[in-house]
Amino acid sequence: MNTVAIIGGGFAGTLTAVNLIHHARNPLKIVLIETAENLGRGVAYSTVFPKHLLNVPAGRMSALPDEPLHFLKWARAQNMVVSESSYLSRKLYGQYIDSILQSTVINLPAFITFEKLTDEALSIQLIQDQTKAVIKLASGEVVVADKVVLATGNFCPQTPSGISQSIAASERYVNNPWQRADADYATTSGDALLIGTGLTMIDKVMELVHSGFKGNIYAVSRHGLIPRAHSKASLAAFAQTELNQELYGDLTLLFKAVKETIRSGSYAHLFDNSSTVKMDVADWRQVIDCLRPHSQALWASLSDKQKKRFLRHLRTYWDVHRHRMAPEIAEEINGLTETGRLKILSGRLYSVNETSEALIATIMPRGGGQPEQLKVALMINCSGYSPDFRRAKSVLAQSLLTRALVVPHPTGLGLSVRTDGAILDVTGKPSKVLFTLGPPTLGLRGETVAVPELRVQARELAKVLLQTGQTSEFSVLQIEESEFNYVKSPLS
Ligand SMILES: Cc1cc2nc3c(=O)[nH]c(=O)nc-3n(C[C@H](O)[C@H](O)[C@H](O)COP(=O)(O)OP(=O)(O)OC[C@H]3O[C@@H](n4cnc5c(N)ncnc54)[C@H](O)[C@@H]3O)c2cc1C
Repeated sequence: MNTVAIIGGGFAGTLTAVNLIHHARNPLKIVLIETAENLGRGVAYSTVFPKHLLNVPAGRMSALPDEPLHFLKWARAQNMVVSESSYLSRKLYGQYIDSILQSTVINLPAFITFEKLTDEALSIQLIQDQTKAVIKLASGEVVVADKVVLATGNFCPQTPSGISQSIAASERYVNNPWQRADADYATTSGDALLIGTGLTMIDKVMELVHSGFKGNIYAVSRHGLIPRAHSKASLAAFAQTELNQELYGDLTLLFKAVKETIRSGSYAHLFDNSSTVKMDVADWRQVIDCLRPHSQALWASLSDKQKKRFLRHLRTYWDVHRHRMAPEIAEEINGLTETGRLKILSGRLYSVNETSEALIATIMPRGGGQPEQLKVALMINCSGYSPDFRRAKSVLAQSLLTRALVVPHPTGLGLSVRTDGAILDVTGKPSKVLFTLGPPTLGLRGETVAVPELRVQARELAKVLLQTGQTSEFSVLQIEESEFNYVKSPLS
């Protein structure tokens, strides 16, 4: 029986399992390894806070690419009054993903077995001429598989510069913004400083304000830019067509064309197809969104040097326009900034000291000027999740790097991967056993974090995994170390 082990049961891992079950025609064993009890949540959808909304409308959040309104229909079946343009809670979305898996597993064909292991994968070793993998788990259990999918998502945020070891250990400082979901902010007296001004910052502001936190909230990032809002109006869908060829491989020209399209209101700077060009740009959001079907090809056409240039100079601007807030959240954020309750600063966190009463943060303003000092009772790292394996604190990630089973992508975004998800080794050879999708493929794809991209990847990867079935006599085993001697180097 062919055994596929999936490490990580967030959106990507869970949907890979669902697609494997949907598409399998031959005997198959699926083992899904996830540290959390629940499946389908990961970081994004494990929040229980009702004001953590999806940043994509319900009509575009189906987990199944072949059924575009699947999520909407599911939400309606839960007696919710929702339209295609509603922004629903991420908690609900986690339940939706879990329910897809549950209903798929209940109807499992006899030739498929599915097992969920609540455990942490610590290391992988390739055996039998690199045709099988042995996964060592924290419990001591071992999984042997023909194919392994790394669906490990993003890693915990890096500690920002300016935060010393002693501050990182302070009770007033939160490095992982999702760790203290049960924190009692109502009893915290004083102000808060959030490091980072992206969507994680927006989430934390909502959480603080609606949990009874009474102080002012400061948020700082180099540029002091916050995500833009989605339009309340539904914008005309864009006909998919070919981009002007000269825009591929030329970052400068592409950037100019985007700016010019927004400024002039004419798509002619991006597309030469006459029917598209005749459409007018009603809203800048349409221009950002019309690039979405082309973003992976555009990214692939850039040299590594240009990719790094984009990451250094343009990514901040791209991100705030591309990853937008739900309109109702944007209204609240605007209200908070207008009353001065939320202050967005552009600058660099230089240092933080702690007194018996508070944390004192020193911020160097962007463009120079006097450093600003803030006295705060709470500091939360909202700098965002990291796709960088090299800096990840994950035992598995470090083990994979040490064993040279994976190679970081030259941009530092995830791993070197072939377009079908096969992980490349140091010689550039695609693995027949190790595959990945989602955030670890960021260097290859440029954009790969949102559900509309991930759901397609999960379906396509499942098909690739099923193409080459191999047999394995055993899958999940409680093997004594002595039975394991044929493995050349010991598992660490
Ligand atoms: C806060 C937030 C909000 C988002 N909101 C939206 C949105 O509204 N709309 C949208 O389209 N996209 C959104 N996204 C983007 C996207 O949907 C998520 O990033 C997506 O869920 C990624 O799925 P994933 O399965 O690859 O990773 P994750 O969800 O991070 O899941 C990875 C899983 O792997 C497990 N894991 C990791 N290592 C191991 C190991 N060694 N052993 C066992 N288990 C392991 C983790 O416990 C985790 O559950 C959001 C992302 C974030 C972070």
